[in-house]
Amino acid sequence: MSTLEQLAKEAASCTRCDLYQRATATVFGEGRPDSPLALVGEQPGDQEDKQGHPFVGPAGHLLDRALHDSGIDRADAYLTNAVKHFKWDARGKRRIHQRPNGTEIMACRGWLEAELAVVGPRVTVAMGAVAGEAIFGRGFRVRDHRGRLEEITVGGWQGAVLSTVHPSSILRAQDNDAREEAFAGFVADLVRAREALAA
Ligand code: SF4
Repeated sequence: MSTLEQLAKEAASCTRCDLYQRATATVFGEGRPDSPLALVGEQPGDQEDKQGHPFVGPAGHLLDRALHDSGIDRADAYLTNAVKHFKWDARGKRRIHQRPNGTEIMACRGWLEAELAVVGPRVTVAMGAVAGEAIFGRGFRVRDHRGRLEEITVGGWQGAVLSTVHPSSILRAQDNDAREEAFAGFVADLVRAREALAA
């Protein structure tokens, strides 16, 4: 069993915070185990929780399109989330995403640190405020970091982090024009990450 598989197995029974109690599955990272590029999102959504895999819901489909447009092969990257269990609230029969709080983000940070240490990417893309908070700490704002490559040490990993928006924020854009503009900006950030790898 590889180190990543071992970590995923251990995370499957994690009780470091309360989020495991209402989720279906621990959704651990997946992808190329020695990838030079890691993509970190917020947490699994409804579909990810049901299927047990990261980025398989609507935001994942949008991410797939953005990766394609930016010239990145998803199979060549390592994809994970800052928080491994789905936090949600019931609204009728629907499960509505709830943002993880700072305590939950920090409780889960150990898993992210371990993944980054094992995979050893040269560039990590932090998608959204929760991923940024997990990496840079409390007080992180996407607008203060967006599009910059910043050298950082996270646990046993050292490398460059490029911050951008989470793909789900693009899905929430007010109208088509705003969505297209946000999507183009997201693709531009991913291109920057790809170019940093090629440099
Ligand atoms: S969210 Fe993270 S820290 Fe909390 S129980 Fe799940 S795996 Fe453990």
